[in-house]
Amino acid sequence: MTYDHVQPVSLGGDTNFENLCLACRSCNEFKSNLTESIDPLSGETISLFNPRKQKWSEHFVWSVDGTKVEGITAVGRATITRLRMNNPVIIVARKRWVMSGWHPPND
Ligand SMILES: [Zn+2]
Repeated sequence: MTYDHVQPVSLGGDTNFENLCLACRSCNEFKSNLTESIDPLSGETISLFNPRKQKWSEHFVWSVDGTKVEGITAVGRATITRLRMNNPVIIVARKRWVMSGWHPPND
């Protein structure tokens, strides 16, 4: 995991507890210094999911086979798109985690 600034430093974000979250390297690099993305369903520009202020389960669910994140709101869909949360590399990893019983998480 890496530390991510929810509000990027380049956009005025501070390095403090309220503005930091843990993110895997892939999500962190695809997020870059962005705070918004396009909801592929509506085409609207939407703020990315904020793990400090929003609840994961209100915006995302796991696919039945546990390998893909699915957005159930505009925030979820836009965040999945921006962070490429279903990229081929992570899908392969999740398949292995599912087979090992490590994934998806229960909460
Ligand atoms: Zn990630």
